[in-house]
Amino acid sequence: MTLASQNSDPETTAAPYGLANPDVSIDDPASDSPTDTLLTSILDVSEDDLNYQVSQMGQPPFRARQLWRSLYYEGAQSFDEMTTLAKPFRAALEERYRISPIVPEVELRSADGSTDKILFKLQDGELIETVLMRYGLDGHRRARRTVCISTQAGCALGCTFCATGQQGFRRQLSPGEIVAQVLHMRRIIRSENAELIAAGSAKKDEVTEITNVVFMGMGEPLANYNNTLSSIAVMNHAQGMNIGARHLTVSTVGLVPEIRKLAREPYQLNLAVSLHAPDDESRSRTMPVNKRYPIARLMHACRDYVETTNRRIFFEYVLLDHENDTPEHAKKLAELLNGLMCHVNLIPVNPTEKGPYSRPNDKRSALFREVLTKAGIANTVRQEKGIDINAGCGQLRAHALDDAVEAAE
Ligand code: SF4
Repeated sequence: MTLASQNSDPETTAAPYGLANPDVSIDDPASDSPTDTLLTSILDVSEDDLNYQVSQMGQPPFRARQLWRSLYYEGAQSFDEMTTLAKPFRAALEERYRISPIVPEVELRSADGSTDKILFKLQDGELIETVLMRYGLDGHRRARRTVCISTQAGCALGCTFCATGQQGFRRQLSPGEIVAQVLHMRRIIRSENAELIAAGSAKKDEVTEITNVVFMGMGEPLANYNNTLSSIAVMNHAQGMNIGARHLTVSTVGLVPEIRKLAREPYQLNLAVSLHAPDDESRSRTMPVNKRYPIARLMHACRDYVETTNRRIFFEYVLLDHENDTPEHAKKLAELLNGLMCHVNLIPVNPTEKGPYSRPNDKRSALFREVLTKAGIANTVRQEKGIDINAGCGQLRAHALDDAVEAAE
């Protein structure tokens, strides 16, 4: 959740970035021809089903493996590119499927070149947002390329600080629509890397591919549980995208039954819980989901999650001036998290033009942090400058979450 656009209108989100960088050339992987738009995306065919379909087309099993590799390892954008497959087989695939179910509609790049945001159009016209974040080497931290992806068009959960929530729920994204966002961003990174290598600025083993994926875009991933998990299976597949589960972070507002379910899944994912307040009264003010799953119930599920998985949980906490940022709030938070294997990610809010919240000053943030640190609660705070969270959606939080995961590794 919560890349969650503060403002999804492409015209206004363009404001802090300027026009899409003309150097970013993104081939449209899905033509809009009338017949093509009627075809199912092959990215929505599961591995088992793909094996079956390929055998039904009279092909031996290894052809399905070649096809899988072309789609997810090589990232082919057309069946024609799949030269390991015989021409008649490629033609048969072309008749049945299209490849990508998403088409870039608006492409934006931050002034410092570190962040791209793309508004994608889905086959039925729905729009979703995806963000690509580039980090250089930073002290002991390696270079990273992180994609922040959406899992739903719209969202039903209605958090008051989030424009996606205010727009309501449109529909679930399919596994192919989720995976296609990462494939698209990987193409951008691969093309940048190829340019660096061609220019002699880097060697092949020095460039960075997509390293991390955070499920923090539009929608609540755990409210689209099965499709989110199917997309994770594809991203994590060793013969495909091969992104380690520890580099995949699912962010949730705290859907208790799904957190419990996730604990039993075979993936060593990171789980991030948006807490934002240490008591029910203040949390319910901004997050209606708290009425359904109050803090005590949520924390119980979180403690069980840690016990079952033996993995820490990341808690996100946006600091809102005089709303949830007093030392008393910090003390309550420390009590709540006492003894729990976790990491708190503090994010001083960037005030929105129309929003009711303002950013606490550095002294207040430091005081809050001090209380947590004294209580032995691991935490990081990110002071982001240069990214306008209003128009940049939750990308500030996605950056911060990514930093926190990295710091805790
Ligand atoms: S869960 Fe809340 S913050 Fe996330 S997209 Fe939905 S309404 Fe927005």
